[in-house]
Amino acid sequence: MRTLISNGTIVTAEGRSVADVLIDGEAIATIGAGLAEAGVTADETIDATGKFVIPGAIDAHTHMELPFGGTFAKDTFESGTRAAAFGGTTTILDFAVQSRGASLREGLDTWMAKAEGNAVADFGFHMIMSDVNDDTLREMDTLVSEGVPDFKLFTAYPGVFLSDDGAIFRAMQQTAKNGGLIMMHAENGLAIDIVANQTFEAGTTEPMGHGLARKAVFEGEATNRVIRLAEAAGVPVYIVHLSSKEALAEVRAARDRGSMAFAETCPQYLFLSLDDLGNGFEGAKFVCSPPLRPKDHWDELWTGLVKDDLQLVATDHCPFDFHGQKELGRGDFRKVPNGLPGVEDRVDLLHDGGVVGGRITPERWVEIISTAPAKLFGMYPRKGSLTVGADADIVIYDPNRRHTISAATHHMDVDYSCYEGRSVQGGSDIVLSRGTVIVRNGEFTGRKGHGRFIKRAPADYVRLS
Ligand SMILES: [Zn+2]
Repeated sequence: MRTLISNGTIVTAEGRSVADVLIDGEAIATIGAGLAEAGVTADETIDATGKFVIPGAIDAHTHMELPFGGTFAKDTFESGTRAAAFGGTTTILDFAVQSRGASLREGLDTWMAKAEGNAVADFGFHMIMSDVNDDTLREMDTLVSEGVPDFKLFTAYPGVFLSDDGAIFRAMQQTAKNGGLIMMHAENGLAIDIVANQTFEAGTTEPMGHGLARKAVFEGEATNRVIRLAEAAGVPVYIVHLSSKEALAEVRAARDRGSMAFAETCPQYLFLSLDDLGNGFEGAKFVCSPPLRPKDHWDELWTGLVKDDLQLVATDHCPFDFHGQKELGRGDFRKVPNGLPGVEDRVDLLHDGGVVGGRITPERWVEIISTAPAKLFGMYPRKGSLTVGADADIVIYDPNRRHTISAATHHMDVDYSCYEGRSVQGGSDIVLSRGTVIVRNGEFTGRKGHGRFIKRAPADYVRLS
């Protein structure tokens, strides 16, 4: 099967030009101006005149079917990757979870079984480590060699995921030997739990209490701490879902002094705010950790993206229905499942707020949604690029079409949208995964099980920092 995408504006992290793309099978065969005129033939020709042609977006942070707080994140690998595809995302990196007392292997096998045969687009895994001990440290080496080179640890959620500083440091030392990457959820969970309990006992039971208790200073402190530990171990470190100026200041200072500190932020920290946690229990729709911050953090985070102190935007997609799931926290904000839906909306929100909003160029947009995650997570140039030989994960993107985000029309399996009623400019018209059209003008044309596990290698973090 040969597909020719003609006359589109090719946008990559490096630049823009009008050209044609020829796909042969699953890969990009040729890129050049005037291929059709030069006699190149194909089984299908897609006219992309006036459209952007971009590498499929990569969401480096999702939680399909994650067990949390006595329930499960609602999207499966099938519904979640399908929703992602509607939004122009053709690869997700999800988090497999090691349960306390179990092996990393058991966790990885469990998540692999959830994804394989179900995902409609490609996927890879990071590994959440709940225990750091001699056995799991040895297992890290095996996972790196099997294409799962990233390990997430937490300074939050005492009794569930929290690792103490010694455990974090030991895991970091292990990556100094095996080349892997430590990813950190950096919030001081011990201090947060004390403030959360005091907040609740003082009578604040509504979701706003969640935002008030998880102070930005607790994120800044933990961010600095884990970066310093990584410096001592001589390894890179990646801060997930950075939400505040306090945490960004620590990453910026670390990068300025030459350390290999990397960080992502998420759309919810650029477009939503602490105010959304108000309005009584409705605020439960916006409960995630770290929490939404006051609006005066937005400009700082955008500056971080412009100056590359933040390298990419991922979603932390972790959807719970308002009815029946978020409601577990009625009367006690500490029991609201933490997480927001977003895998479908990221590309359009960043196009609208970033490119149309005049904050970033189309090239930087492509970089933060696709190319940077491909590079940092060991998939470049197979993913995140439009180059000969790369996987033909391609989005024909209309930069002018407007649509309104709504739970009534989105494809995520969740009963509300954080962006309900918001009008955005830009949308994915045609989405290809390894040469196959999986979304065409609002219709799903892919199939369950098309998605493959992407075996990844550690990146060259020295060169990327
Ligand atoms: Zn997460």
